[in-house]
Amino acid sequence: MSGIRSTGNLHLGNYFGAIKNFLKMQKENNCYFFIADYHALTTHPKPGNLHGNIKQVLAEYLACGIDPEIATVFIQSDVPEVSELYLLLNMNAYVGELERTTSFKEKIRKQPDNINAALLTYPVLMAADIIIHKANKVPVGKDQEQHLEMTRRFARRFNMMYDVNYFPEPDAYNFGKQLVKIPGLDGTGKMGKSEGNGVFLADTPQEIKKKVMRAVTDTGPAKPGQEPSEPVKNLFTIMNVVSDQDTVKFFKEKHASCEIRYGDMKKQIAEDIIKFTEPIRSRINDILADEKYLSRVVSEGAEKARASASKTVREVREIIGYRSF
Ligand code: AMP
Repeated sequence: MSGIRSTGNLHLGNYFGAIKNFLKMQKENNCYFFIADYHALTTHPKPGNLHGNIKQVLAEYLACGIDPEIATVFIQSDVPEVSELYLLLNMNAYVGELERTTSFKEKIRKQPDNINAALLTYPVLMAADIIIHKANKVPVGKDQEQHLEMTRRFARRFNMMYDVNYFPEPDAYNFGKQLVKIPGLDGTGKMGKSEGNGVFLADTPQEIKKKVMRAVTDTGPAKPGQEPSEPVKNLFTIMNVVSDQDTVKFFKEKHASCEIRYGDMKKQIAEDIIKFTEPIRSRINDILADEKYLSRVVSEGAEKARASASKTVREVREIIGYRSF
């Protein structure tokens, strides 16, 4: 089970933090992947842009290899049952715990003029997204660890409150065991959609080269015995996911022997990102042009997701005590 906000194109962080795991999981699990277009409204996208953003992310999911024949791929707002579960879970989510969430504190800092209620309850909607399909594994990056912890807490609280064993407590999931954090090119923090520090899967080779060559590094090679600085470590983290291990080893040795030229390292990273994204980029364009295919994927996905979500909401209503007359 996993979702990605539809506020822009997918970046390398989304790919290596989440999508790479989707691709492995879909073969062995009953998977639900969705485009979080309700969550996207917290940043107030223009109505004229919303549909295009959703379509772009959908095409990117498919271009990466998510297979709608074996997984359920859907758009969050096509499954309104999730908003009912969100409302019900909000009754047992406490303002204090929501205010303490790291992502909420970050949002307050980033968008002080738009601290809306949905930002505060963002983790509740996210929990509803997950538990509505009774998911037990959620492929996410490291930044979502706290949200997952809250999801487990909301699921556990519901079970205890109504003395049932209804919702599983889902775990964050990564095939490499450790959750991944792909850093941005600006030297600090994670790669994000709106931080201006990301490389997007749909970026052209020229854009990729330009962005990577501008990445923050040190001004000169390291001194003997010196640990890599944070920006340099970050470049190695990116290199580690896009380049082959011999290349990483070569540059690590150059760093250790104080002979590294960061310009060469960035050139190599840019080349490897281009090589990695090239086939995805060309598939994105083909898929975007196939309106009929996209429309079929969306309607089949909505049907499957609604079947699962409405069953849960029906059962939850019963557990809570709603009865039909
Ligand atoms: P978002 O783009 O915030 O909607 O996140 C969608 C998914 O991508 C979540 O599973 C995140 O954990 C993952 N993700 C986003 N940015 C990064 C990053 N820089 N490194 C690793 N995973 C990330």
